[in-house]
Amino acid sequence: MDTKKYPVIWVQGAGCTGCSVSVLNAVSPRIQNLLLDEVVPGHQLNLIFHATIMAGQGEPVIEVLKDTEKNRKGGYILVVEGAIPTAEGGAYGSIGERGGQHLTIQQSVEELGKSALLTIALGTCAAFGGIPAAKPNPTGCKGVRDVFADSGIDTPVVNLPGCPLHPEWFTGTIAAILISGTDALELDNLARPKLFYGSLIHENCPRRADFDKGKFAEKPGDPGCLYKVGCKGHYTYADCPIRQWNNGVSWCIKAGSPCLGCVEPEFPDGTSPMYEKITFEELTWSQK
Ligand code: SF4
Ligand code: SF4
Repeated sequence: MDTKKYPVIWVQGAGCTGCSVSVLNAVSPRIQNLLLDEVVPGHQLNLIFHATIMAGQGEPVIEVLKDTEKNRKGGYILVVEGAIPTAEGGAYGSIGERGGQHLTIQQSVEELGKSALLTIALGTCAAFGGIPAAKPNPTGCKGVRDVFADSGIDTPVVNLPGCPLHPEWFTGTIAAILISGTDALELDNLARPKLFYGSLIHENCPRRADFDKGKFAEKPGDPGCLYKVGCKGHYTYADCPIRQWNNGVSWCIKAGSPCLGCVEPEFPDGTSPMYEKITFEELTWSQK
């Protein structure tokens, strides 16, 4: 059987590269296996552009973007990490030069997004704008879906928010797509796979019995439910309590910190102040 190969272009916008760091720490499968080997029989990804880890530089790697967009229409996967600065024609962020001009992040994401098979918005900044889009947002940062909507681009987008996202949210999504195709992935109304973002943190939280009994922590690190110190687990959809982080070692609430709602579109403006109780009535939450 011939192996079907999908080039992957990984573009970084306004962000901290933390989502790359998180995904590069994937344990099973390891990221190098996922992005370079045939982990799913008959299907193989091929990472051809990632500014942080690729060895190439300069004009030849910028040419890769154009060549892929031109010659592999509908056959490559675009991964976007970080928000897209759109103010002043995208002038606040570029990923290189083309023909002596800045190649802006916005221009790259739009050009590449138009011809991609699928775009994955990796992390909350790429999905919803995140921290770079926090008020007053002078650079006009936006998430990928909003940029596509503004430009009339109808390429499917899968949002994998998180600040950073869990590595298995990425590896699991890719595996599901390779095994069953893009249509088989069930998404919520924010384009997040229900496989990973399908239940409330509060539903599966080990401190839920404390909440029900009214036993509340007075400060982060205390035993008891963290609601009074700002926990947003009531309104946040992710499988952190079950999956846990760092290969199952711990996660925010187990470590004594409230959930900050990092996978939701309102993060960080709508989740602030982060360590104070926000009542349901005070929320501007899209899930409300
Ligand atoms: S710590 Fe947060 S998620 Fe857990 S029970 Fe309390 S409010 Fe709910
Ligand atoms: S527990 Fe909440 S803040 Fe922590 S990673 Fe999960 S969704 Fe984000």
